[in-house]
Amino acid sequence: MTEQSATVTNSLVSLFGRPGNATAYAIRDFLHRSDVPFEWIQLETDEQARSQAGVDHLQDPRLPICIFPDGSRIECPSLRQLTEKLGWFRSPLHSEYDLAIYGAGPAGLSAAVYGASEGLKTVVIERSAIGGQAGTSSKIENYLGFPKGISGADLAERAREQACRFGAEILLAREGVRGEFTTGKGTGYLADGTKIVARAAICATGVAYRNLGLPNEEKYFNAGLYYGAGASESALVKDEHVIVVGGGNSAGQAAMHFSSVAKRVSLVIRGDCLKKTLSQYLVDRVNAAPNVEVLRRTEVTGLSGKDCLEEVTLRHRDTGEERKINTHWLFACIGGEPHTNWADEAGIVRDEAGYLVTGPDLIQAGKRPANWPLDRDPYYLETSVPGMFAAGDVRHGSVKRCASAVGEGAMAVAFVHRYLAQG
Ligand SMILES: Cc1cc2nc3c(=O)[nH]c(=O)nc-3n(C[C@H](O)[C@H](O)[C@H](O)COP(=O)(O)OP(=O)(O)OC[C@H]3O[C@@H](n4cnc5c(N)ncnc54)[C@H](O)[C@@H]3O)c2cc1C
Repeated sequence: MTEQSATVTNSLVSLFGRPGNATAYAIRDFLHRSDVPFEWIQLETDEQARSQAGVDHLQDPRLPICIFPDGSRIECPSLRQLTEKLGWFRSPLHSEYDLAIYGAGPAGLSAAVYGASEGLKTVVIERSAIGGQAGTSSKIENYLGFPKGISGADLAERAREQACRFGAEILLAREGVRGEFTTGKGTGYLADGTKIVARAAICATGVAYRNLGLPNEEKYFNAGLYYGAGASESALVKDEHVIVVGGGNSAGQAAMHFSSVAKRVSLVIRGDCLKKTLSQYLVDRVNAAPNVEVLRRTEVTGLSGKDCLEEVTLRHRDTGEERKINTHWLFACIGGEPHTNWADEAGIVRDEAGYLVTGPDLIQAGKRPANWPLDRDPYYLETSVPGMFAAGDVRHGSVKRCASAVGEGAMAVAFVHRYLAQG
């Protein structure tokens, strides 16, 4: 990060913690995705905890501890505390905006670049780190203009810098939870009580990871079981056995990324063939990697371990045969689902799976949606509430790709202009 950052980002942040600790993972993930250089110091004994981190023992609740280059230390920090310390937590500068964008993944960042560069007073609200799902990717190889690929964190950081250069405000570690819209003005309510008033809004909140549906899954969340590709963890899986679940590109990418350091990678897929779900370039690489095995027609049926994940049970879907693998590393890349419950209250039409319906998809049997107040059809990326647009993965019928999310972000801004000019 550059302009919006303050004190410490060019030096190393030190993070001390015990292995398999969920808070420590969340911090590593946040720092990695935010492109903040950091070192992870893994504490293995009570003595190390005392001498290196200055706490009483390895189970001390003050762990993990972050030490910043200015010498200050925060014990077991929340992401909000981290963003505050990094100088990125800020209050909205204006009481009213032209455009409020929710979500700083590729769609939201693209909308921010176009909105701000075209003179709209633009604010972006992001509940976590910038970059969204793309920010978690170790390498995006099919995004135009980067023939050798680019890491998601790098792409996100470039986009953030570009948006800020044009004057977009980005509010990190803030979550939109509710919205009220009247024609001409909308108010977004954030989880911390902040209100964002804007003449138009774009929802670019993407999807949140789907879980495996196992009864004790929560116990191991971020403590051996990780949702997503875990780009921050690659150095830690050296000589380990890693399990990646999923047959899509994100799973294939993760498997290949881990294969360069792990002893072995098991890619677990429910189907019988990778070709149906994975891009050919990844199929070829997976097949050629000597330490990657593809376990077809297989699913995860059990997780166990005392404090963190220690054993994973896999079952063959046809034969019922079970296999147990001792590992601390299970990455679930099985797609996502939109978290859009707030939309019902705001009167925004969603499809059965929760995606926001826009433009021509809102017209049923030649009729506009109920309660649509204007004498025109909804614009292409407009939801059933005038002035509220949707872009990227959260949108019904969207193509789940970086480039299409970026394209929709840009396109949504064109419709925002039309809406602001003509209603
Ligand atoms: C590991 C991985 C690898 C991938 N690799 C590729 C690839 O190589 N090529 C490719 O084309 N695509 C790839 N994809 C898919 C691509 O990343 C997505 O299609 C793209 O990120 C969608 O962008 P988006 O902006 O619509 O949503 P997202 O990327 O999901 O971003 C949404 C953002 O909104 C934020 N948010 C959610 N709710 C709220 C709220 N209430 N308030 C504020 N903020 C909120 C989230 O924190 C998130 O940052 C990959 C996906 C993954 C997971």
